[in-house]
Amino acid sequence: MSKKTIYIAGLGLIGSSLALGIRRDHPDYRIIGYNRGEKSRLIALEKGFVDEATDNFASFAEQADVIILAVPIEQTIDFIKELAQLPLKSTVLVTDAGSTKLAICQAAEAYLGPVGVNFIGGHPMAGSHKSGIQARDRNLFEKAYYILTPGDNPRLQERISELEELLVGTRAKFLTMTAQEHDQITGSLSHFPHVVAALLVNQAQQLNESHPRSKQLAAGGFRDITRIASSDPKMWTDILLSNRPILMSLIRQWQTEMDDIYQWLEEA
Ligand code: NAD
Repeated sequence: MSKKTIYIAGLGLIGSSLALGIRRDHPDYRIIGYNRGEKSRLIALEKGFVDEATDNFASFAEQADVIILAVPIEQTIDFIKELAQLPLKSTVLVTDAGSTKLAICQAAEAYLGPVGVNFIGGHPMAGSHKSGIQARDRNLFEKAYYILTPGDNPRLQERISELEELLVGTRAKFLTMTAQEHDQITGSLSHFPHVVAALLVNQAQQLNESHPRSKQLAAGGFRDITRIASSDPKMWTDILLSNRPILMSLIRQWQTEMDDIYQWLEEA
């Protein structure tokens, strides 16, 4: 495959780990990066996993063969809208890394679809409670599922292998599904458990005020819950708000089941 220019917007945990993964198997590709903060741009340049860096998102977009949006969900949608206004290469492929897919894919269909820009939603399902470029890890996605949501446009189906080939150095396992199915599954297995973990940690903090030794006694399992709940609150607000209907239904279901247990205890 000929030398490509890959544009990664957002040099945080996910964007910089993806850049490192791409570099591993495509050392000849030109990787260019956007980051609003200077510090991460300088680190990425100094460590050599981007060749050039900018704080002006639009300025590099026209050069790209592939654009990877690795910023918070709301910002991803804003960048999709902005890309629709820019004179991009006719063959450009745009993807993202957002933890929810439906809102992003709907925005891509609404804004990029009409201008003929190909978009495939992406979610590398590995991460960390740490964020930012300092937490980058070339092996972050190794053996992790990397979900792709191309939608049902046959042209996009054809471009999946192109994206997988680009990302082969992440060593992730690629899986294709609809954005709806992705959000339902991650809502149940990741987003909702996160809400429960946060509530359990709040409850434990209250317990700790009246029983200071409880912190010391919290076993390994509870520390895992604490770790889940300590992830970036801004990112989680973004995730919960972009998966609202599914989360609201899961919360209702949980309430009903909790009520059943309450009643069973009351009547015992
Ligand atoms: P991060 O905080 O490490 O990095 C976010 C990046 O976005 C930074 O470069 C930051 O400068 C930039 N950014 C933030 N707000 C911005 C704004 N308003 N305008 C322009 N740039 C902005 O976060 P991350 O973990 O790399 O998350 C990036 C994306 O990946 C998110 O959409 C997230 O849902 C998704 N994701 C995260 C994880 C995880 O566990 N952290 C896992 C999979 C996918």
